[in-house]
Amino acid sequence: MLALILAELAWRLGRNRGYDGRAALTTLGLVAGGLPFAALNAFVLGTMFEAASRLALWQLPLADWRTWGLGFLAVEFAYYWFHRASHRIRWMWASHAVHHSAEQLTLLSSFRLGWTNLLSAGWIFYVPLVLLGLPPAGVFVLLAANLRYQFFLHTEAVGRLGPIEWVFNTPAHHRLHHASNDCYIDRNYGGVLILFDRLFGTLAREVEGEAIRYGLAHRAPSYNVPGIALSEWWGMARDAVRMRGLDQVVRALFGPPGAVADTGHSFTQPKS
Ligand SMILES: [Zn+2]
Ligand SMILES: [Zn+2]
Repeated sequence: MLALILAELAWRLGRNRGYDGRAALTTLGLVAGGLPFAALNAFVLGTMFEAASRLALWQLPLADWRTWGLGFLAVEFAYYWFHRASHRIRWMWASHAVHHSAEQLTLLSSFRLGWTNLLSAGWIFYVPLVLLGLPPAGVFVLLAANLRYQFFLHTEAVGRLGPIEWVFNTPAHHRLHHASNDCYIDRNYGGVLILFDRLFGTLAREVEGEAIRYGLAHRAPSYNVPGIALSEWWGMARDAVRMRGLDQVVRALFGPPGAVADTGHSFTQPKS
């Protein structure tokens, strides 16, 4: 991965696309700061998976290839809905926004991950897989492989990939996912596959003449590591406190980002 990151750096500089060194350092800061949270996340997820597997009525055998085939599709399905919810429920977006904070899409920027995933409760989407009989170790391996695959999606160095794009998530698909332009936003949620986006109507199509704008739609670029990790929580808390009535508070916390009017945080508001 390091070799690819360096090769991409050389490619970008060779093409005069620039490489934001400060953004790269910010990414490294986010990775370093997120390590204890990632360890805690893995521990709690493991504990929950174990508890869920004891409740499962049957266990699919890890030695059977069909378990892996079914598990792959099940993890991809759960990932699609986890990712879609992470964009449409502000409580989850507060963690996922970190991943979308980079203004330049690079392989390194794929490591921008939220620190607060445990709090955002994305694990809710994976526990049912274990309850349905998939072994926890299998879900862990498949989820890790799914996320590892996604490393390769975060680059401008790979163009269109022809028929592969019918089935698989590719850099071209994922570039549109990271675009904050109104015409692209909240699309292409898949992990390894793009099939569930086609099935559920969330596939983005490239619009001619509409150049991709990376980063967050409603916020200026930042190099402040704790600020990037926590600013959406801060904005959400501020909005929730300002709301009148429980329904408005619930909407501020669990509605779509930008659902609460007059916040100045409208997610779909284009950059000026
Ligand atoms: Zn996303
Ligand atoms: Zn991404």
